[in-house]
Amino acid sequence: MCEHSNFDAKVIIKRSDAPPAWRASLRVTCKQCGMDFYFPGLPPEQPNGIQQIGVADHGTTALLDIRPPLTSTDTGSTPPPNSVRRN
Ligand SMILES: [Zn+2]
Repeated sequence: MCEHSNFDAKVIIKRSDAPPAWRASLRVTCKQCGMDFYFPGLPPEQPNGIQQIGVADHGTTALLDIRPPLTSTDTGSTPPPNSVRRN
């Protein structure tokens, strides 16, 4: 039985304009057996196909909003300016 002690990670970052926004898509697999890791604690996948922050691809991908620092004193604790969700 694999102890899943070595990993591969794949991160894809997409940038959109007006306003600028960044979305990171993260996937982690076991280097030995190839099994996908899950991301417990993130919001579940949306059944309507809308990709919000949380998991996708049956729990094996984490979708995260990221952003660069806004000021020299920015601590990263405030959400990105475009984080208001439109439904
Ligand atoms: Zn493994």
